[in-house]
Amino acid sequence: MTPPTFAIVGAGLAGAKAAETLRAEGFDGRLVLLGEEAERPYERPPLSKAYLRAEADRDSLYVHDAGFYAARDIELHTSARVSSIDPAARRLTLASGERLGYQRLLLATGAAPRRLRLPGADLDGVCYLRSRRDADRLAAAVGNAERVVVVGAGWIGCEIAASVRQLGRDVTLVGREAAPLARALGSEIGCFYRDLHSEQGVRLALGTGVAAIRGNGRVEAVVTADGRTLPCDLVLVGVGAAPRTELAEAAGIAVGDGVLVDEWLETIAPGIFAAGDVAAAWHPHLNTRLRIEHWANALHQGAVAARTMLGLPTPYERLPSCFSDQYDVRMEYWGLATAGDRVVLRGDPATRRFVAFWVRRQRVVAGMTVNVRDVAEALQALICGGRDVDLTRLVDPDIPIGQLARGRPLTVDWHARI
Ligand SMILES: Cc1cc2nc3c(=O)[nH]c(=O)nc-3n(C[C@H](O)[C@H](O)[C@H](O)COP(=O)(O)OP(=O)(O)OC[C@H]3O[C@@H](n4cnc5c(N)ncnc54)[C@H](O)[C@@H]3O)c2cc1C
Repeated sequence: MTPPTFAIVGAGLAGAKAAETLRAEGFDGRLVLLGEEAERPYERPPLSKAYLRAEADRDSLYVHDAGFYAARDIELHTSARVSSIDPAARRLTLASGERLGYQRLLLATGAAPRRLRLPGADLDGVCYLRSRRDADRLAAAVGNAERVVVVGAGWIGCEIAASVRQLGRDVTLVGREAAPLARALGSEIGCFYRDLHSEQGVRLALGTGVAAIRGNGRVEAVVTADGRTLPCDLVLVGVGAAPRTELAEAAGIAVGDGVLVDEWLETIAPGIFAAGDVAAAWHPHLNTRLRIEHWANALHQGAVAARTMLGLPTPYERLPSCFSDQYDVRMEYWGLATAGDRVVLRGDPATRRFVAFWVRRQRVVAGMTVNVRDVAEALQALICGGRDVDLTRLVDPDIPIGQLARGRPLTVDWHARI
């Protein structure tokens, strides 16, 4: 009998981790990893940080060393774009016209930057950042620029603004909200980031959008919706990313904000799974569907999807988490806060060392550390434990976070199962 073929579309972090896990769990059939980029899977977080600033080299980005895939008989095809899938025939077609039959298929196609649609958006000098090639282009452009406008004050925009400022350029950060990262972290923590960028000399144009980009062939200025003209020779756009659902959509697989999968990361199409930035997965404890565009999610979902593909299903039930580095500020976040949650701080943001808790009805639903180490596990346990806390104890740095929950002794419930 011919051994089964498992195919993975998208050779990013989720795809690479799925391939690794399939072999580690004993899959001995044919394993094909297809990626449209010209190189083996790499990590994207350094692209807006150390790599952009030329403090990390290309080799440090790769998920696995060069011999990893061949050594495990993983057929890695680079520059190989998949153009369609046929779920009924269990076959995919590459842009080259080649076809491949599969028994199981993982969609790990990631996300793509949202583009600006406004006058001047196509001028030379308007850049986006997703791939390593983008980062190389951006680094070269920053090298030749004096005044840079960053459009979008979310994660990518803030990190690019920090890196470009660290490279000594004049930077203006334009964002719709009154404070950077306010949509993700709320206005109070947003103000911390506003002050941080401001102290580092980044000019801020907040509470406004971009109306147009002006220039004659090349960018010369950004015009904001509130009428400011910001002269510049480079525009970096970070206004969010859209899941790359095109293959799934064309194949009739259910798609919403991402490819819809259950808690085992399986789509409605038998034998087809999705993981990473592209997947909108049901979370069994948070009782909602989540599409998470963060590194840890891609890392862990790749592995979980692989196990489900092998018939060893484990639900994906990790607490959402992310990290960000801007200047000398390292933050890590866990949980899922919503707009109405109360923010409680332990420590003074002015010292750039504090913990923020998001509290809903006496319970901590999310937490964030800023330059605080060694509390990650206790903080996650506090969030997952779902027990009431005393707010006066929450703000007291002398009480270990592990001792904050009232009632039954704290146990790490659901997040640590995988
Ligand atoms: C600049 C940058 C900085 C980031 N920094 C952080 C950070 O500090 N902290 C954090 O938590 N997260 C960060 N992230 C997010 C994190 O990198 C992503 O969540 C993660 O890369 C998602 O991995 P993925 O494998 O799902 O998708 P991707 O890494 O996007 O990989 C998907 C791959 O699939 C390929 N592909 C798509 N369609 C096809 C097709 N039809 N055929 C073949 N191949 C295809 C794509 O070209 C791509 O190579 C950052 C992201 C970026 C872009």
